[in-house]
Amino acid sequence: NSMRGALKFMQESDRTGCLVLFELRDASSYSENYQPKVIAELTRSVLDGLREKLNSREGVNGLISRSILYFIMVEDADSDTPSNWTAIVDELLDVVSSPQQVEHYRIHPSAAAGYVLLGSDFDPTRSIQECYSALAEASRVGSGTSREASRERLIDRQTRFGYEREIEAAVAEQQFEPFFQPEVFLATGEIMSFEALVRWIHPRLGLVSPDLFISVAEDKDLIVRIDLQMLEAAARRFVEWGFGHSGPTLRVNFSSTTLHHSGLARRVVEMCSKVGLHPSQLCIEVTETSVMRDESLSLACLNAISSEGIQISLDDFGQGSSSLSRLRSLPITEIKIDRWFVQPLPGDPADRAFLRSIASIAEAFDLEITAEGIETDAQRRTLIELGFSKGQGYLFGRPLPANRIPQVLSNSRTQRWS
Ligand code: C2E
Ligand code: MG
Ligand code: MG
Repeated sequence: NSMRGALKFMQESDRTGCLVLFELRDASSYSENYQPKVIAELTRSVLDGLREKLNSREGVNGLISRSILYFIMVEDADSDTPSNWTAIVDELLDVVSSPQQVEHYRIHPSAAAGYVLLGSDFDPTRSIQECYSALAEASRVGSGTSREASRERLIDRQTRFGYEREIEAAVAEQQFEPFFQPEVFLATGEIMSFEALVRWIHPRLGLVSPDLFISVAEDKDLIVRIDLQMLEAAARRFVEWGFGHSGPTLRVNFSSTTLHHSGLARRVVEMCSKVGLHPSQLCIEVTETSVMRDESLSLACLNAISSEGIQISLDDFGQGSSSLSRLRSLPITEIKIDRWFVQPLPGDPADRAFLRSIASIAEAFDLEITAEGIETDAQRRTLIELGFSKGQGYLFGRPLPANRIPQVLSNSRTQRWS
């Protein structure tokens, strides 16, 4: 998410540059050999080395998982000569692969890199996918390898086929796991639901974010299996927490491919009864864009789900281009405002006027409204002023594996917002 946010920001400010992903190839064995603080120190020292190497070059960096680091470098607007990114990435790869002294350990990381040039009008999500494909390819070749992503290479059927096969095997081996993020009442912090967010526990790469595999899975209909696996796994965990019917609800995300799958409503209801989840405890999140993809088919599917007593929320609202009047024809119970609109808050009067009007339209249509991506208390307070009562974001809790949720629940009983 931070990588996508940084890329979006770069795109909006019309900058160009390069995105690099580094993989510490044997990081999974580190956790067996070293204590967490040694691994954290190693990562920090690698990042420091990279920053030092880049010297004054403007850029952003971060850690995606235990084993993947990213770097976004911005083209120097004043320079006459374009940067030689290939050479720069290779120099950086040398830094990542150089031996590190951490406490009394001498660690020899083995690393690979994938990078993508961010020219004018690049697409953030697509660039991330291309970069990941390039990294996967570099990593297959071996340590010390770097690969540039190119349109041609992405379409290269061999590579894409390889990645699809990998996802397919992951589905068969159930390598996907739901993480849970609470949604709360903004005024009190009381938990009103948990959203299940898929994570790929990759045997070599560690935690892989959905942004890196959902769109490939969507092309191959693998997403239907992933979504149904997530529903079942999430519902099983949720039922274990023993909430009553008036307690928090469970939310799962369905892609449009899943939504259009024949007999979906029946499958969902069967799955609920198998694990003991009442349909009224379930809410399906579908994005505004996916509903609009085939509107009449989506409408039929949503009606079938809704008639089973399952709630439907329109996710990422504001990203798509649906007209507000269309909202009335959909059997949704809630709209979920994209974090893009929450990020600038407290913001300027126009930012606030937009959200205030959406909140009043939702009220007029008798829809619940919730806000995503709340990271600061100032955002929370502003949203309350604008007429929002519910929200989700790192301020209240990050997505966590199921075994951490009982702790979240017991903390939430003692922690209160004012
Ligand atoms: P989404 O459904 O809109 O989920 C919210 C995303 O925002 C999650 O990213 C969550 O980790 C992130 N987020 C939550 N709070 C904050 C915050 O305060 N700040 C920031 N910067 N980010 C925040 P995640 O888990 O990477 O999921 C990305 C998207 O992938 C989801 O967006 C959803 O569209 C899709 N997705 C996730 N799980 C599934 C699934 O099981 N099936 C399908 N079809 N799609 C899924
Ligand atoms: Mg969602
Ligand atoms: Mg969303």
